[in-house]
Amino acid sequence: MSIKIPEDELDKVLRQVEEREKRDPKKRWITRMMKSAKQYHKMCPYYDKRTGKCFLKLGEKCERDGRFDGCPVFIDWLAKKYDELKSKGRPLPMDFLDLTLAV
Ligand code: SF4
Repeated sequence: MSIKIPEDELDKVLRQVEEREKRDPKKRWITRMMKSAKQYHKMCPYYDKRTGKCFLKLGEKCERDGRFDGCPVFIDWLAKKYDELKSKGRPLPMDFLDLTLAV
């Protein structure tokens, strides 16, 4: 059984989510880093093509074949980097390459 959501209801919910993201600097930064990472990498930079494992999961298998767009492991890693840099009072990089150099 499927539930139909009226289009205007759906638009309203999506707008609310977008608004919340705009107000949340951490989410905004994570989105920015994700976009920036995609400019440099077709496949996840933490994916081991040879073995199919994820470096961020300490060698566990990547369930996404290296497709990192929206990957919860990657997002979680970015969130931790945000907290780490903030707690050290360091500036937040605006480019993914600068992030990899900063950590
Ligand atoms: S699980 Fe996510 S972070 Fe890890 S290699 Fe796969 S896509 Fe990358």
